[in-house]
Amino acid sequence: MHDFLPVPHHVVAVTSPSRHRDPSVERYDVVVIGAGAAGLMCAIEAGKRGRRVLVLEHADRAGKKVLISGGGRCNFTNLYATPDCFQSQNKSFCVSALTRYTPQDFIALVEKHRIAYHEKKLGQLFCDGSAKEIVRMLLDEAEAAKVTIRLQCKVGGIRSINGFLIETDLAAIATDSLVVATGGLSIPQMGATGFAYAVAQQFGLKVTPTRPGLVPFTRSGQALAFCKSLAGVSIPCIASCGGSSFWENLLFTHRGISGPAILQVSSYWHEAEQVHIDLLPDLDLLAYLKEQQDARPKAELQTILSMLLPRSFAEAMCATSLPNRAMAQLSIKDLGVVAHTLKDWSILPDGTEGYRTAEVTLGGVHTIGLSSKTMEAAGVPGLFFIGEALDVTGPLGGYNFQWAWASGYAAGQYV
Ligand SMILES: Cc1cc2nc3c(=O)[nH]c(=O)nc-3n(C[C@H](O)[C@H](O)[C@H](O)COP(=O)(O)OP(=O)(O)OC[C@H]3O[C@@H](n4cnc5c(N)ncnc54)[C@H](O)[C@@H]3O)c2cc1C
Repeated sequence: MHDFLPVPHHVVAVTSPSRHRDPSVERYDVVVIGAGAAGLMCAIEAGKRGRRVLVLEHADRAGKKVLISGGGRCNFTNLYATPDCFQSQNKSFCVSALTRYTPQDFIALVEKHRIAYHEKKLGQLFCDGSAKEIVRMLLDEAEAAKVTIRLQCKVGGIRSINGFLIETDLAAIATDSLVVATGGLSIPQMGATGFAYAVAQQFGLKVTPTRPGLVPFTRSGQALAFCKSLAGVSIPCIASCGGSSFWENLLFTHRGISGPAILQVSSYWHEAEQVHIDLLPDLDLLAYLKEQQDARPKAELQTILSMLLPRSFAEAMCATSLPNRAMAQLSIKDLGVVAHTLKDWSILPDGTEGYRTAEVTLGGVHTIGLSSKTMEAAGVPGLFFIGEALDVTGPLGGYNFQWAWASGYAAGQYV
């Protein structure tokens, strides 16, 4: 695997004659590339400090991922979003930003804009209405802070000399503070690019290997046929992989398995690793089966299991992997096999659905080269990276937006 990603052709790695004095060059105090969650938050904060801020976005509208997030209701933060919840090669990096801008700070902003919200579960806060309200709030704040947002703007090369010169298809722009907030690789059809990684490498920063996170698993052959036959069936379970466990729902799909438990565990999964699933987490299944053997000796195993699990799943398991006989005909060893199969159902995923459906990108710009206080690159004064572009990834449930807000806020105080 590459430790560093190749620089694509659209980023020009040059230190060339200063065109800053060219009258055709526009000048801003701060240029933010990417009008997503992190970029807008940073622009708002910088604008509030009186900085002249320009946001460049290549999509046709700002905050596109916010709009589709949380099933259209935007799970905008999590009450329990503390630094220890985040994955990174440099675990302590996120502490400073997350403690200076907390979920309560974002909630205060949401309340200021009278956006109704509720806790769905596990500290996850969602809009009662629509994610559009969060984008509207950010755009209203940006307008109040006199931030200029330029949509459908293609950014070309970035040159550095006494600041930065950014070439776009609309104009060349000079600035002393350049913030890269272009996110990760997830959902390329929505405008995701590896732009941040290329810029990081252009300026000598490391990029840790990236992979899709919070993503469904795919299966093939008989295992896929099994999943397809159960598509839409959901079961509460504990899914474990790579030393992490999540007690949430599993969902069968036409491509394999998904649901919150699987999305969570996918961020800890590596190729050829097994995922272990306890389908009856709060039950001593062997003891229960022995009791049922005494109480209902004539009942078939699938009838007993249908009292604990969705009937279609119990039937499919009995048809493919379990001895479906009358309880009285099952030996202790048989009961042990049934209990083991359902308490430690081991799955070897073929892979994931990839960036096409992944909610986040794991890995990214290595934080070792950045200030945790300001998000500024250590060796490149004026260059900042924020949001999902960095190697900081949260679990499902509002954590990734909290990182976007917090890192954007942190940089916004210094750009
Ligand atoms: C389907 C889905 C649902 C999600 N739901 C939730 C949720 O409910 N709660 C949660 O916490 N997280 C959720 N996430 C994750 C969350 O959306 C991201 O972690 C968050 O948006 C990251 O913010 P960001 O500003 O760093 O990047 P983004 O929001 O991705 O913004 C980056 C911006 O940069 C622009 N851009 C990219 N390349 C260029 C370029 N070369 N030039 C100019 N502009 C560029 C993009 O168009 C985009 O507007 C979800 C993700 C997905 C895909």
